[in-house]
Amino acid sequence: MSRESIVKQARELYEDINLASVVARVRAGQKAVGYLPVYAPREVIHACGMLPVGVHGGGDQVEIIRGDAYYQSYICHLPRSVVELALSGRLDCLSGMLFPSTCDVIRNLSGAWQVLKPDTYVRYLDLPQGGAPELMTEFWAEELRVLHRDLARLAGVEVSQDRLRDSIALYNRVREVVRALYRARRDHPERVPSEELYLVLRAGEVMPPEEFLEFGAAYLAEVAASTASPRDNSRVVVVGAFCEQPPLGLIKTLERAGCYIVDDDFLVGNRTITRPVATEGDPYVALSAAVVHHAVKCPVFYEPDPGGKKRVVPDLAREARADGVIFAAPSFCDPALLDRPMLRAGAEAAEVPCIAFKYSENTGQFQQFREQAGTFSDAIKLWGGR
Ligand code: SF4
Repeated sequence: MSRESIVKQARELYEDINLASVVARVRAGQKAVGYLPVYAPREVIHACGMLPVGVHGGGDQVEIIRGDAYYQSYICHLPRSVVELALSGRLDCLSGMLFPSTCDVIRNLSGAWQVLKPDTYVRYLDLPQGGAPELMTEFWAEELRVLHRDLARLAGVEVSQDRLRDSIALYNRVREVVRALYRARRDHPERVPSEELYLVLRAGEVMPPEEFLEFGAAYLAEVAASTASPRDNSRVVVVGAFCEQPPLGLIKTLERAGCYIVDDDFLVGNRTITRPVATEGDPYVALSAAVVHHAVKCPVFYEPDPGGKKRVVPDLAREARADGVIFAAPSFCDPALLDRPMLRAGAEAAEVPCIAFKYSENTGQFQQFREQAGTFSDAIKLWGGR
């Protein structure tokens, strides 16, 4: 598979807000279950023979007409476009929807869904937060058991712990491919444009994981063969875009303005668990312990260490060998914007240069971002980064 054909396929999947690839699988007899950002246990959906589908809104391709009527004006854009997609029938291929405890907006959307789609299985996932680790592990393992039982019933299959272990092993490999893609970009950003990386990862949100393994590996092979020469760009980490996704044009704009994105938190649910999950013993406990003990640092997860938030950005910048940090959060995103002062204070204390702005998934004008990021990159080049 050539690089062009990989990126072309990924772009087609990204632009297909009608989820034609999912609909085709559903027509062929497989069921599909959607999940909202940030983290949902895709392994459990897969273990029941169903297709996990990331629901990331309509980006800049959906005109919000009815979705706005469901929400006040001062919340983020994501739930409006998700409601718009639902009301237009584009999510009818999903037999179930999982709503993680990302924020109040997504929690409330789970309630709205029960009214909007009474025939769909709806579950609010109360992720383990802020207790003793052993209690959180026990709590979340029990939630996973119940979810597995429910989804098996939805799929019309028996609950099988062996199949769940197989799915855990498969998703361990998926996360390894995602991490390899991130390492490749960090080490050679000139070979891995962030727009392409993002499209490949978005493909993984609607593709079966078995296919994504091959797809991601094929892209990695193309990257390894690349002879692109590095430019004199600044290396930046983008922080704050973990839920509502930035428009593709914004990602492209940052790089065109002279910034190599060498790490980010886009679609971070695909790599929330940072270590391989145990594939022996009780699979619910294994999956639960991995979330409790080895989740990425993200504003939607409780941070027990009072100084922990201030170390996040310096650590990210050091690991990515970044010159600076761009805080890019969706407008009205409570988790991102509440954490930003602490994250920024940590960055400034460590003398990591940073800028900040807000976006919406349907932002259409990028000139101001281009000027801001271009000036930031030039300033780093002229006066030095860290
Ligand atoms: S963008 Fe922020 S506020 Fe909106 S649903 Fe996501 S986490 Fe919640």
